Amino acid sequence: MKVALLCIGDELLKGATVNTNLAFIGERLLRNGIIPELSLEIPDRRESILKALDYAYSKADTVITSGGLGPTSDDITKDTIAEYFGLPLEQNAALEKHLTSWWKKLHSGPAPLHWERQARIPAGAEIVPNRFGSAPGIHLERNGKSIFLLPGPPAELHPMFEDEMLKKILEKREETLHASLTIIVGIGESIVEERTQPLLRDGISVAYCASPGLVKLFFTCRDEALLNETTAEAKKIFAGDTLSDGITSLPAEVLRLLERKKLTLATAESCTGGMISAQLTAIPGSSAAFLGGAATYSNDLKRLFLGVRETTLAQFGAVSRECAAEMVEGICARTGADAGISVTGIAGPAGGTPDKPVGRVYIGVRLHEAPRILECNFRGGREQVRMQTASRALNELRKLLLEQEP
Ligand code: AMP
Ligand code: MG
Repeated sequence: MKVALLCIGDELLKGATVNTNLAFIGERLLRNGIIPELSLEIPDRRESILKALDYAYSKADTVITSGGLGPTSDDITKDTIAEYFGLPLEQNAALEKHLTSWWKKLHSGPAPLHWERQARIPAGAEIVPNRFGSAPGIHLERNGKSIFLLPGPPAELHPMFEDEMLKKILEKREETLHASLTIIVGIGESIVEERTQPLLRDGISVAYCASPGLVKLFFTCRDEALLNETTAEAKKIFAGDTLSDGITSLPAEVLRLLERKKLTLATAESCTGGMISAQLTAIPGSSAAFLGGAATYSNDLKRLFLGVRETTLAQFGAVSRECAAEMVEGICARTGADAGISVTGIAGPAGGTPDKPVGRVYIGVRLHEAPRILECNFRGGREQVRMQTASRALNELRKLLLEQEP
Protein backbone atom coordinates (compact mmCIF):
# COMPACT_ATOMS: atom_id res chain seq x y z
CA MET A 1 0.00 0.00 0.00
CA LYS A 2 1.25 3.46 -0.90
CA VAL A 3 -0.34 6.52 0.68
CA ALA A 4 -0.65 10.14 -0.50
CA LEU A 5 -2.15 13.05 1.41
CA LEU A 6 -4.07 15.98 -0.04
CA CYS A 7 -4.70 18.86 2.34
CA ILE A 8 -7.40 21.00 0.77
CA GLY A 9 -8.24 24.58 1.71
CA ASP A 10 -7.46 28.11 0.49
CA GLU A 11 -6.49 29.10 4.02
CA LEU A 12 -3.49 26.72 3.95
CA LEU A 13 -2.00 28.52 0.94
CA LYS A 14 -2.71 31.97 2.30
CA GLY A 15 -0.73 31.13 5.42
CA ALA A 16 -3.80 31.69 7.57
CA THR A 17 -3.84 28.10 8.84
CA VAL A 18 -0.82 25.98 9.64
CA ASN A 19 -1.16 22.49 8.20
CA THR A 20 -1.29 20.60 11.47
CA ASN A 21 -3.44 17.89 9.88
CA LEU A 22 -0.41 16.71 7.93
CA ALA A 23 1.66 16.64 11.13
CA PHE A 24 -1.03 14.65 12.93
CA ILE A 25 -1.78 12.15 10.16
CA GLY A 26 1.91 11.74 9.30
CA GLU A 27 2.77 10.92 12.90
CA ARG A 28 -0.09 8.44 13.31
CA LEU A 29 0.83 6.69 10.08
CA LEU A 30 4.49 6.58 11.06
CA ARG A 31 3.55 4.89 14.32
CA ASN A 32 2.16 2.14 12.14
CA GLY A 33 5.16 1.97 9.90
CA ILE A 34 3.70 3.98 7.01
CA ILE A 35 5.47 6.97 5.52
CA PRO A 36 3.38 8.71 2.83
CA GLU A 37 4.81 9.01 -0.67
CA LEU A 38 3.78 12.68 -0.81
CA SER A 39 1.57 15.38 0.62
CA LEU A 40 0.14 18.33 -1.30
CA GLU A 41 -1.53 21.50 -0.09
CA ILE A 42 -4.09 22.70 -2.60
CA PRO A 43 -6.80 25.37 -2.82
CA ASP A 44 -10.56 24.72 -2.80
CA ARG A 45 -10.58 24.68 -6.61
CA ARG A 46 -12.06 21.96 -8.80
CA GLU A 47 -9.22 21.86 -11.35
CA SER A 48 -6.54 21.86 -8.65
CA ILE A 49 -8.22 18.96 -6.83
CA LEU A 50 -8.63 16.93 -10.05
CA LYS A 51 -4.98 17.48 -11.04
CA ALA A 52 -3.77 16.67 -7.55
CA LEU A 53 -5.78 13.42 -7.57
CA ASP A 54 -4.20 12.41 -10.88
CA TYR A 55 -0.76 13.10 -9.51
CA ALA A 56 -1.45 11.42 -6.16
CA TYR A 57 -2.70 8.23 -7.84
CA SER A 58 0.36 8.17 -10.07
CA LYS A 59 2.44 7.69 -6.91
CA ALA A 60 0.02 5.92 -4.54
CA ASP A 61 -3.06 3.69 -4.37
CA THR A 62 -4.51 5.21 -1.22
CA VAL A 63 -5.33 8.91 -0.90
CA ILE A 64 -6.26 10.68 2.33
CA THR A 65 -7.76 14.16 2.07
CA SER A 66 -8.53 16.80 4.69
CA GLY A 67 -10.83 19.80 4.33
CA GLY A 68 -13.62 20.99 2.09
CA LEU A 69 -16.39 18.84 3.52
CA GLY A 70 -18.40 21.60 5.21
CA PRO A 71 -21.75 23.07 4.17
CA THR A 72 -20.51 26.32 2.59
CA SER A 73 -20.21 26.74 -1.16
CA ASP A 74 -16.39 26.79 -1.06
CA ASP A 75 -16.40 23.24 0.29
CA ILE A 76 -16.22 21.24 -2.94
CA THR A 77 -14.02 18.26 -2.05
CA LYS A 78 -16.91 15.75 -2.14
CA ASP A 79 -18.35 17.03 -5.41
CA THR A 80 -14.94 16.92 -7.05
CA ILE A 81 -14.12 13.43 -5.77
CA ALA A 82 -17.50 12.18 -7.10
CA GLU A 83 -16.70 13.78 -10.46
CA TYR A 84 -13.21 12.25 -10.52
CA PHE A 85 -14.60 8.75 -9.98
CA GLY A 86 -17.59 9.35 -12.29
CA LEU A 87 -20.11 8.81 -9.51
CA PRO A 88 -23.34 10.70 -8.81
CA LEU A 89 -23.84 12.37 -5.42
CA GLU A 90 -26.85 10.90 -3.64
CA GLN A 91 -28.81 12.54 -0.87
CA ASN A 92 -28.63 10.19 2.15
CA ALA A 93 -31.92 10.36 4.05
CA ALA A 94 -30.62 8.99 7.37
CA LEU A 95 -27.70 11.38 7.30
CA GLU A 96 -29.97 14.31 6.52
CA LYS A 97 -32.12 13.45 9.53
CA HIS A 98 -29.02 13.25 11.72
CA LEU A 99 -27.76 16.62 10.42
CA THR A 100 -31.12 18.30 11.07
CA SER A 101 -31.23 17.09 14.65
CA TRP A 102 -27.56 18.05 15.12
CA TRP A 103 -28.41 21.62 14.05
CA LYS A 104 -31.50 21.79 16.27
CA LYS A 105 -29.54 20.66 19.29
CA LEU A 106 -27.14 23.60 18.97
CA HIS A 107 -29.28 26.38 17.46
CA SER A 108 -32.79 27.78 17.70
CA GLY A 109 -33.45 29.02 14.13
CA PRO A 110 -33.74 26.98 10.93
CA ALA A 111 -30.64 25.38 9.39
CA PRO A 112 -28.66 27.68 7.06
CA LEU A 113 -28.53 27.60 3.28
CA HIS A 114 -26.78 24.49 1.86
CA TRP A 115 -26.83 22.73 5.27
CA GLU A 116 -28.31 19.59 3.73
CA ARG A 117 -25.48 19.44 1.17
CA GLN A 118 -23.49 17.67 3.84
CA ALA A 119 -25.83 14.69 3.46
CA ARG A 120 -24.82 14.21 -0.19
CA ILE A 121 -22.56 11.19 -0.57
CA PRO A 122 -20.87 9.74 -3.69
CA ALA A 123 -22.84 6.62 -4.73
CA GLY A 124 -21.44 3.48 -3.10
CA ALA A 125 -19.27 5.33 -0.58
CA GLU A 126 -19.12 4.47 3.10
CA ILE A 127 -20.11 7.17 5.60
CA VAL A 128 -17.78 7.65 8.55
CA PRO A 129 -19.47 9.33 11.52
CA ASN A 130 -18.20 12.65 12.87
CA ARG A 131 -18.62 12.78 16.65
CA PHE A 132 -17.48 16.38 17.00
CA GLY A 133 -18.91 18.15 13.97
CA SER A 134 -21.52 18.02 11.27
CA ALA A 135 -19.68 16.97 8.10
CA PRO A 136 -19.24 13.19 7.93
CA GLY A 137 -16.09 11.51 6.70
CA ILE A 138 -16.18 9.31 3.62
CA HIS A 139 -14.43 6.13 2.52
CA LEU A 140 -14.58 5.05 -1.09
CA GLU A 141 -13.05 2.11 -2.98
CA ARG A 142 -13.12 2.34 -6.76
CA ASN A 143 -11.08 0.68 -9.53
CA GLY A 144 -8.30 -0.38 -7.16
CA LYS A 145 -8.06 3.14 -5.74
CA SER A 146 -8.93 3.95 -2.16
CA ILE A 147 -9.85 7.36 -0.86
CA PHE A 148 -10.49 8.59 2.68
CA LEU A 149 -12.05 12.04 3.13
CA LEU A 150 -11.65 13.80 6.48
CA PRO A 151 -13.06 17.15 7.65
CA GLY A 152 -10.58 20.04 8.01
CA PRO A 153 -11.05 21.16 11.63
CA PRO A 154 -8.42 19.31 13.71
CA ALA A 155 -10.88 18.82 16.59
CA GLU A 156 -13.02 16.74 14.21
CA LEU A 157 -10.25 15.16 12.15
CA HIS A 158 -8.18 13.82 15.05
CA PRO A 159 -10.84 11.63 16.69
CA MET A 160 -12.26 10.50 13.34
CA PHE A 161 -8.84 9.47 12.10
CA GLU A 162 -7.86 7.76 15.31
CA ASP A 163 -11.14 5.99 16.03
CA GLU A 164 -12.34 5.07 12.53
CA MET A 165 -10.19 5.87 9.52
CA LEU A 166 -6.84 4.49 10.64
CA LYS A 167 -8.34 1.01 11.17
CA LYS A 168 -9.79 1.05 7.67
CA ILE A 169 -6.49 2.21 6.18
CA LEU A 170 -4.48 -0.44 8.01
CA GLU A 171 -6.91 -3.17 6.88
CA LYS A 172 -5.82 -2.46 3.34
CA ARG A 173 -2.19 -3.17 4.04
CA GLU A 174 -1.08 -6.41 2.42
CA GLU A 175 1.72 -7.23 4.84
CA THR A 176 1.51 -7.07 8.59
CA LEU A 177 4.06 -4.67 9.94
CA HIS A 178 4.57 -4.41 13.67
CA ALA A 179 5.54 -1.08 15.13
CA SER A 180 6.78 0.22 18.48
CA LEU A 181 7.23 3.68 19.88
CA THR A 182 9.76 4.65 22.54
CA ILE A 183 9.78 8.25 23.71
CA ILE A 184 13.10 9.58 24.97
CA VAL A 185 13.29 12.80 26.97
CA GLY A 186 16.12 15.25 27.56
CA ILE A 187 18.49 13.78 24.93
CA GLY A 188 19.06 15.30 21.47
CA GLU A 189 18.06 13.54 18.26
CA SER A 190 21.62 12.94 17.04
CA ILE A 191 22.67 11.33 20.30
CA VAL A 192 19.55 9.15 20.21
CA GLU A 193 20.45 8.06 16.69
CA GLU A 194 24.06 7.33 17.61
CA ARG A 195 23.09 5.20 20.58
CA THR A 196 20.40 3.38 18.59
CA GLN A 197 22.72 2.40 15.72
CA PRO A 198 24.09 -0.80 17.33
CA LEU A 199 20.52 -2.15 17.63
CA LEU A 200 19.71 -1.99 13.94
CA ARG A 201 19.58 -5.29 12.14
CA ASP A 202 18.15 -6.59 8.89
CA GLY A 203 14.38 -6.26 8.88
CA ILE A 204 14.23 -3.46 11.42
CA SER A 205 13.34 0.02 10.14
CA VAL A 206 13.90 3.01 12.34
CA ALA A 207 12.52 6.55 12.31
CA TYR A 208 13.21 9.51 14.60
CA CYS A 209 10.81 12.35 15.25
CA ALA A 210 12.07 15.23 17.42
CA SER A 211 10.03 17.90 19.17
CA PRO A 212 11.02 20.25 22.01
CA GLY A 213 12.34 18.17 24.90
CA LEU A 214 11.70 14.74 23.41
CA VAL A 215 12.54 12.35 20.60
CA LYS A 216 10.13 9.70 19.36
CA LEU A 217 11.92 6.54 18.29
CA PHE A 218 9.85 4.30 16.03
CA PHE A 219 10.81 0.76 15.07
CA THR A 220 8.87 -1.23 12.49
CA CYS A 221 9.44 -4.85 11.60
CA ARG A 222 7.59 -7.82 10.06
CA ASP A 223 8.89 -10.11 12.79
CA GLU A 224 7.11 -9.29 16.03
CA ALA A 225 9.62 -11.11 18.25
CA LEU A 226 12.55 -9.23 16.71
CA LEU A 227 10.66 -5.96 17.14
CA ASN A 228 9.96 -6.64 20.82
CA GLU A 229 13.56 -7.64 21.44
CA THR A 230 14.91 -4.48 19.75
CA THR A 231 12.45 -2.24 21.60
CA ALA A 232 13.39 -3.82 24.93
CA GLU A 233 17.09 -3.23 24.19
CA ALA A 234 16.38 0.41 23.31
CA LYS A 235 14.53 0.87 26.57
CA LYS A 236 17.58 -0.54 28.36
CA ILE A 237 19.97 1.83 26.56
CA PHE A 238 17.83 4.84 27.42
CA ALA A 239 16.79 3.63 30.87
CA GLY A 240 15.72 6.53 33.09
CA ASP A 241 15.18 8.77 30.07
CA THR A 242 12.10 7.17 28.53
CA LEU A 243 8.44 7.84 29.14
CA SER A 244 6.28 5.03 30.48
CA ASP A 245 4.38 2.88 27.97
CA GLY A 246 1.24 4.61 26.76
CA ILE A 247 2.39 8.06 27.92
CA THR A 248 3.21 10.44 25.09
CA SER A 249 4.21 13.68 26.78
CA LEU A 250 6.45 14.93 29.55
CA PRO A 251 3.69 16.69 31.54
CA ALA A 252 1.59 13.51 31.38
CA GLU A 253 4.53 11.49 32.72
CA VAL A 254 5.15 13.95 35.56
CA LEU A 255 1.48 13.85 36.51
CA ARG A 256 1.46 10.06 36.43
CA LEU A 257 4.47 9.88 38.77
CA LEU A 258 2.96 12.44 41.15
CA GLU A 259 -0.35 10.64 41.21
CA ARG A 260 1.27 7.27 41.81
CA LYS A 261 3.08 8.73 44.81
CA LYS A 262 0.02 10.70 45.91
CA LEU A 263 1.96 13.98 45.72
CA THR A 264 0.80 17.45 44.75
CA LEU A 265 2.58 20.05 42.61
CA ALA A 266 2.54 23.84 42.26
CA THR A 267 4.54 26.05 39.89
CA ALA A 268 6.06 29.55 40.02
CA GLU A 269 6.90 30.78 36.53
CA SER A 270 8.59 33.94 35.40
CA CYS A 271 9.99 33.77 31.85
CA THR A 272 7.55 31.03 30.79
CA GLY A 273 4.58 33.05 32.04
CA GLY A 274 2.39 30.01 32.73
CA MET A 275 3.46 27.65 29.91
CA ILE A 276 4.27 24.88 32.36
CA SER A 277 0.92 25.12 34.09
CA ALA A 278 -0.82 25.33 30.70
CA GLN A 279 0.92 22.13 29.60
CA LEU A 280 -0.02 20.37 32.82
CA THR A 281 -3.67 21.46 32.76
CA ALA A 282 -3.97 20.36 29.12
CA ILE A 283 -3.83 16.79 30.43
CA PRO A 284 -7.27 15.49 31.49
CA GLY A 285 -7.38 14.61 35.18
CA SER A 286 -4.42 16.86 36.05
CA SER A 287 -6.32 18.20 39.07
CA ALA A 288 -5.49 14.97 40.90
CA ALA A 289 -1.93 16.23 41.38
CA PHE A 290 -1.60 19.78 40.08
CA LEU A 291 -2.76 22.48 42.49
CA GLY A 292 -1.99 25.44 40.24
CA GLY A 293 0.68 28.00 39.61
CA ALA A 294 1.65 31.64 39.79
CA ALA A 295 2.91 33.56 36.77
CA THR A 296 5.08 36.01 38.67
CA TYR A 297 6.69 38.08 35.99
CA SER A 298 7.62 41.24 37.87
CA ASN A 299 9.92 41.54 40.87
CA ASP A 300 7.02 42.90 42.90
CA LEU A 301 4.89 39.82 42.28
CA LYS A 302 7.80 37.54 43.08
CA ARG A 303 8.00 39.34 46.42
CA LEU A 304 4.28 39.59 47.09
CA PHE A 305 3.07 36.20 45.88
CA LEU A 306 6.09 34.03 46.61
CA GLY A 307 7.88 35.86 49.41
CA VAL A 308 11.14 36.32 47.51
CA ARG A 309 13.24 38.65 49.68
CA GLU A 310 13.95 42.20 48.62
CA THR A 311 17.61 41.70 49.49
CA THR A 312 17.82 38.62 47.24
CA LEU A 313 16.43 40.61 44.31
CA ALA A 314 18.75 43.55 45.02
CA GLN A 315 21.87 41.48 45.57
CA PHE A 316 21.52 38.67 43.00
CA GLY A 317 18.77 39.87 40.65
CA ALA A 318 15.54 38.14 39.61
CA VAL A 319 17.44 35.85 37.25
CA SER A 320 19.57 34.02 39.78
CA ARG A 321 19.95 30.75 41.61
CA GLU A 322 18.92 32.45 44.82
CA CYS A 323 15.71 33.84 43.36
CA ALA A 324 14.76 30.49 41.75
CA ALA A 325 15.28 28.80 45.13
CA GLU A 326 13.11 31.29 47.00
CA MET A 327 10.46 31.11 44.29
CA VAL A 328 10.06 27.36 44.54
CA GLU A 329 10.18 27.42 48.33
CA GLY A 330 7.62 30.22 48.32
CA ILE A 331 5.12 28.48 46.07
CA CYS A 332 5.34 25.27 48.08
CA ALA A 333 4.97 27.09 51.39
CA ARG A 334 2.00 29.13 50.22
CA THR A 335 0.12 26.29 48.52
CA GLY A 336 1.13 23.38 50.72
CA ALA A 337 2.23 21.44 47.61
CA ASP A 338 4.64 18.53 48.12
CA ALA A 339 6.54 19.34 44.94
CA GLY A 340 7.34 22.60 43.20
CA ILE A 341 8.82 23.99 40.03
CA SER A 342 10.20 27.50 39.55
CA VAL A 343 11.71 29.13 36.49
CA THR A 344 13.31 32.53 36.02
CA GLY A 345 15.41 33.54 33.05
CA ILE A 346 16.16 35.83 30.15
CA ALA A 347 14.08 34.74 27.15
CA GLY A 348 15.29 37.63 24.95
CA PRO A 349 15.64 39.11 22.47
CA ALA A 350 16.56 42.00 24.82
CA GLY A 351 17.66 41.94 28.42
CA GLY A 352 20.88 39.95 28.12
CA THR A 353 24.15 41.09 29.72
CA PRO A 354 27.69 39.67 29.42
CA ASP A 355 27.13 38.13 32.85
CA LYS A 356 23.66 36.81 32.12
CA PRO A 357 23.16 36.37 28.38
CA VAL A 358 19.88 35.69 26.60
CA GLY A 359 19.00 32.05 27.18
CA ARG A 360 20.27 31.99 30.79
CA VAL A 361 17.57 30.36 32.88
CA TYR A 362 17.50 29.13 36.46
CA ILE A 363 15.17 26.25 37.17
CA GLY A 364 14.22 25.15 40.65
CA VAL A 365 12.62 21.82 41.49
CA ARG A 366 11.74 20.71 44.96
CA LEU A 367 10.29 17.67 46.60
CA HIS A 368 9.79 18.09 50.34
CA GLU A 369 13.44 18.95 50.99
CA ALA A 370 15.76 21.73 49.91
CA PRO A 371 15.32 22.80 46.28
CA ARG A 372 17.61 21.67 43.51
CA ILE A 373 18.65 24.55 41.26
CA LEU A 374 19.84 24.18 37.71
CA GLU A 375 21.58 26.81 35.59
CA CYS A 376 20.75 26.47 31.89
CA ASN A 377 22.02 28.31 28.84
CA PHE A 378 19.51 27.73 26.08
CA ARG A 379 19.99 28.75 22.47
CA GLY A 380 17.49 30.14 20.01
CA GLY A 381 14.86 32.85 19.96
CA ARG A 382 12.41 33.83 22.67
CA GLU A 383 9.91 31.06 21.95
CA GLN A 384 12.59 28.37 21.75
CA VAL A 385 14.09 29.48 25.05
CA ARG A 386 10.67 29.41 26.70
CA MET A 387 9.76 25.99 25.28
CA GLN A 388 13.11 24.48 26.25
CA THR A 389 12.72 25.94 29.74
CA ALA A 390 9.30 24.34 30.20
CA SER A 391 10.51 20.91 29.01
CA ARG A 392 13.71 21.00 31.04
CA ALA A 393 11.86 22.01 34.20
CA LEU A 394 9.34 19.18 33.83
CA ASN A 395 12.14 16.73 33.08
CA GLU A 396 14.13 17.81 36.15
CA LEU A 397 11.10 17.20 38.34
CA ARG A 398 10.54 13.84 36.64
CA LYS A 399 14.13 12.82 37.44
CA LEU A 400 13.79 13.99 41.03
CA LEU A 401 10.58 11.96 41.42
CA LEU A 402 12.30 8.87 39.96
CA GLU A 403 15.31 9.23 42.26
CA GLN A 404 12.97 8.90 45.18
CA GLU A 405 11.44 5.67 43.86
CA PRO A 406 11.51 2.99 46.53
P1 AMP B 1 -13.39 22.41 6.22
O1 AMP B 1 -14.68 23.15 6.36
O2 AMP B 1 -13.56 20.93 6.36
O3 AMP B 1 -12.68 22.78 4.95
O4 AMP B 1 -12.46 22.86 7.42
C1 AMP B 1 -12.15 24.20 7.57
C2 AMP B 1 -11.39 24.52 8.85
O5 AMP B 1 -10.51 23.49 9.26
C3 AMP B 1 -10.52 25.73 8.58
O6 AMP B 1 -11.10 26.88 9.14
C4 AMP B 1 -9.19 25.44 9.20
O7 AMP B 1 -9.04 26.20 10.39
C5 AMP B 1 -9.21 23.99 9.54
N1 AMP B 1 -8.25 23.26 8.69
C6 AMP B 1 -8.44 22.88 7.40
N2 AMP B 1 -7.38 22.24 6.93
C7 AMP B 1 -6.48 22.19 7.92
C8 AMP B 1 -5.16 21.65 8.05
N3 AMP B 1 -4.59 21.00 7.04
N4 AMP B 1 -4.53 21.79 9.23
C9 AMP B 1 -5.12 22.43 10.23
N5 AMP B 1 -6.34 22.97 10.19
C10 AMP B 1 -7.03 22.86 9.05
MG1 MG C 1 -12.40 24.50 3.83
